[in-house]
Amino acid sequence: MPTRDPLGRPLGALRISVTDRCNLRCGYCMPEDAYEFLPHREVLRFEELATVARAFAALGVEKLRLTGGEPLLRRDLPELVRLLAVIEPRFELALTTNGVLLAPLASSLRQAGLDRVTVSLDTLDRSRFVAMTRRDALDDVLRGLAAARDAGFSAIKIDSVVVRGQNDDELGSLLEFARRAGAELRFIEYMDVGGATHWRPDAVVSAAEILSRVERTHGPATALGDRGAAPAERYLLADGTVFGVIASTTRPFCRACDRGRLTADGQFFTCLYGREKLDLRAAVRDGVTDEELAYLVAARWQVRSDRGAELRASLADRAPLVPLSALRRDPHLEMHTRGG
Ligand code: SAM
Ligand code: SF4
Ligand code: SF4
Repeated sequence: MPTRDPLGRPLGALRISVTDRCNLRCGYCMPEDAYEFLPHREVLRFEELATVARAFAALGVEKLRLTGGEPLLRRDLPELVRLLAVIEPRFELALTTNGVLLAPLASSLRQAGLDRVTVSLDTLDRSRFVAMTRRDALDDVLRGLAAARDAGFSAIKIDSVVVRGQNDDELGSLLEFARRAGAELRFIEYMDVGGATHWRPDAVVSAAEILSRVERTHGPATALGDRGAAPAERYLLADGTVFGVIASTTRPFCRACDRGRLTADGQFFTCLYGREKLDLRAAVRDGVTDEELAYLVAARWQVRSDRGAELRASLADRAPLVPLSALRRDPHLEMHTRGG
């Protein structure tokens, strides 16, 4: 039986941020010039991460996603995948990456036991890529996507955050690109997460607007129905293309949310927006048993009442979640620390 919170939501998935460092500086995630990063000595070692993962497996968690920051910056990541892939019951192991370093790593990640890859890509235009990420790396990302396919990953996803005035005129070309690449595209609404210090309501292109724009150029999109705990609503176009829309800002899905998050330094959060953390690093380094670790996690999940995105959506005057000064004091509020 999965562990449930008071709203009946099971603990079904864990996102592990393996590093808070990143090689891009996307304007909706890391818009500032300088950041407070987690001290290296506090970052969980691979064996410690595997210990934590075993506790989640014992609690019925089936899906594990490696993220960051940029997870491929973590040295020897395939070795971590190998450790996680032998945990029983077997996780479905996924990775979210900006793709910049994927080309040289795709094959060893696949061999290590990684099941699925999601690549974040917001534009196909090189100068726009530079403007949105502040790095000139579009070609590396495209090579990374091709390498993932060559390495045998199927069901590759491409995630695109849509920002008004920046890439909202590229919906059609992103769809075409994903179709040709054999990947499923998901449009993500711009969220007011910690770190999005430049977020403004009028920069959000709503899921409804995304859908109507796609329908204008590609014809009717048929909803594919029940998505369970998955964040994306999926649609089918007449030419057989399937795409998703993640409406975290305007139509949040907290009621079905089964995801916990672990930061690179071993802090467990039960919501992307949550403030309460559970220090699993301290527990692991104190030498608790696997059973005690699982008990700590279950006890926290069982009192979880988070509905972060829903509460944000109910605000009349919505502005960035936290000011820069608060992020400097507590990097755990950052999206790139918490793991997207
Ligand atoms: N660096 C990796 C990447 O970009 O795929 C993994 C971490 S990143 C934080 C995970 C996802 O969060 C990416 O798809 C990114 O586009 C998304 N993201 C970051 N900030 C966001 C925001 N303000 N609104 C919506 N999505 C955001
Ligand atoms: Fe961009 Fe991901 Fe890095 Fe954030 S963590 S700046 S979304 S690449
Ligand atoms: Fe889950 Fe929190 Fe996101 Fe809502 S805001 S979907 S509760 S992580």
